[in-house]
Amino acid sequence: MTDNPSVGQCDCGATAGPLGVCVDYYHQILAEEQADPQMYSWHAPVVCAYLLQHPSGAPQKYLDDQFRLLQLYLDKGLDALLRVAAHQVARNSHRAQSGYDMAPLAPYAPLPPGGAPGHFRATFCGLPFRDGSFVSDGHPAYGRHIEIIAEATVESWRSAQT
Ligand SMILES: [Zn+2]
Repeated sequence: MTDNPSVGQCDCGATAGPLGVCVDYYHQILAEEQADPQMYSWHAPVVCAYLLQHPSGAPQKYLDDQFRLLQLYLDKGLDALLRVAAHQVARNSHRAQSGYDMAPLAPYAPLPPGGAPGHFRATFCGLPFRDGSFVSDGHPAYGRHIEIIAEATVESWRSAQT
C-alpha cells in the first residue's frame, strides 16, 4: 500500500537499489574503500563516473578532465589512469600555477556540450552489494563492474551529443 513507483528514481535515470539511489552507493563505496587499499585503486574512475552520471552537483569546470580521464582508463587501463591521477594530485599539492597537466588527456574527446544524458546502461545503484560489502565477489569482479559503469558513462555522453 505504501509502494510508490515514482519514489526511488535517481537523477541519472536509474531505479534505486537496496541501498538507495546512487549517492547512497557512492558514499558507501567511499567509506569502504578507505579501509581497503586494493578497492581504493578504482577511486578515480568511481569519482569521474559518478560525477559524470550526476553532473548537477559537480563543478562543471572539472567535468571535461573527468570525461577524458575515463576515456584514458578505458583505452589504456587502470595503471595508466593512476599514473596520470597521481601526477595531478602531486601538482595540486605543490600549488602549481599551471594546474593540471593536460598532456596525457589531450588526445581524448572533450565533453560534449549538449548536457547530461538521462540514461546509462550501467549505474552505481545497480552495483551488487552483498554481506555489507562491494567486494564480496573479489576485487577483480568489483573492478569489472566499475569498468562497465565507466564504459556506459562515456557511451551515453557521446550518444547524447547527436
Ligand atoms: Zn544515479
